[in-house]
Amino acid sequence: MSETTTAGWKSEDHALYGESVRKFLAAEVVPNIERWRKQGIVDREIWSKAGDAGLLGATIPEAYGGAGTPKSFDAVLLYELAKCGETSWGAAIQTIVAHYIVAYGTEDQKQRWLPRMAAGELIAAVAMTEPGAGSDLQAVKTVAERRGDDLCINGSKTFITNGQISNLVCVVARTEEASGAGGISLVMAETDDLSGFTRGRNLEKIGLKGQDTSELFFEDCLVPASNLLGEHGGRGFKQLMVQLPWERLIIGISALGAMDQMVDETVTYAKERKLFKQRLFDLQNTRMKLAEAKTKTEVLRSFIADCIEKLDRGELDASTASMAKWWGSQMQCEVADECLQLFGGYGYMNEYAIARAYTDARVQKIYGGANEVMKELIARSLDG
Ligand SMILES: Cc1cc2nc3c(=O)[nH]c(=O)nc-3n(C[C@H](O)[C@H](O)[C@H](O)COP(=O)(O)OP(=O)(O)OC[C@H]3O[C@@H](n4cnc5c(N)ncnc54)[C@H](O)[C@@H]3O)c2cc1C
Repeated sequence: MSETTTAGWKSEDHALYGESVRKFLAAEVVPNIERWRKQGIVDREIWSKAGDAGLLGATIPEAYGGAGTPKSFDAVLLYELAKCGETSWGAAIQTIVAHYIVAYGTEDQKQRWLPRMAAGELIAAVAMTEPGAGSDLQAVKTVAERRGDDLCINGSKTFITNGQISNLVCVVARTEEASGAGGISLVMAETDDLSGFTRGRNLEKIGLKGQDTSELFFEDCLVPASNLLGEHGGRGFKQLMVQLPWERLIIGISALGAMDQMVDETVTYAKERKLFKQRLFDLQNTRMKLAEAKTKTEVLRSFIADCIEKLDRGELDASTASMAKWWGSQMQCEVADECLQLFGGYGYMNEYAIARAYTDARVQKIYGGANEVMKELIARSLDG
């Protein structure tokens, strides 16, 4: 994924796309990072600008307003975003939800939502987590009951990325009598002017300062029954499970981008900082720590490349994606801690990128499925 990669998945088209992504980020994202972190949310315009630049529809089929490239093109975008230290813009959620719709949506649903998502008119959120249902997703209590031609949604969600800015929310809700996984469906809610829908405050986090994360409340919200994703109710849990490998790989990809950035920043700093009449870089401990960080990064790069190849071939399984998620986020946190240490007190100051990278890294071990859950999934694959 870096310039030096020999990864088989990366074609000339990926390299060209990467160049245009980097240009876009340099012009439209990097100059705004500080401001977004201060205001706690990105500007609405970044979505339409990214839509115009073709970044939101790269992997949406051409028939629905996209470019129809494989998911590895979104991997390029998400890697580059992480590599420039950007954690505010919830672009990852857009690709996750778009691919729920691509995979399960009816023709009408694809026509209704995908072109507007590619254009950045619709901004997606995934609303799974509830106060009483995080890792234990089958415990969701939000319901979407049939009322004539509508579904009536009642319930509350928490920790939802793009919670303030989204206007297309994929709600995990109970639609069927069946208990457990069998009663769960995915219901799409267009929230502009949706009566009974409210957003809680933008939650204060220890990191990801520019990403809006919120509670969402649904009180007798009526959405057309045709917003149930797919033809039949009760399949939501299965649908989520099939798509989760992509979501988990995304966390591994962003871990890799962040590690590349942290190693680069720290090498530069260690060569500039003088102490004991030499460069910080010349101390043996610094050299060992940077060698370790670089090794962890390169090992992750190879594994991620392998996962992306599998993804494009439709062969990425849950257990392998879970490895990318837990290992990637674990390595990211280790590298963040070791790199920050080399900055001394400066590393503890928010004005330094390493300080932000450190606090931003922590959540990667929690969301998208806690790392303990990832290990349980991997263990299950060994217990067949
Ligand atoms: C910044 C941020 C953004 C988020 N974005 C979204 C979003 O867009 N949409 C969404 O739906 N959710 C989102 N989440 C929620 C996130 O996915 C959950 O926080 C996560 O799944 C864990 O659920 P929980 O917080 O309820 O913790 P719990 O489920 O209560 O788990 C607490 C801890 O218990 C341990 N644990 C859990 N399960 C096991 C197990 N099987 N074996 C051993 N130990 C275990 C782990 O250490 C875990 O961290 C986000 C969270 C954050 C912090």
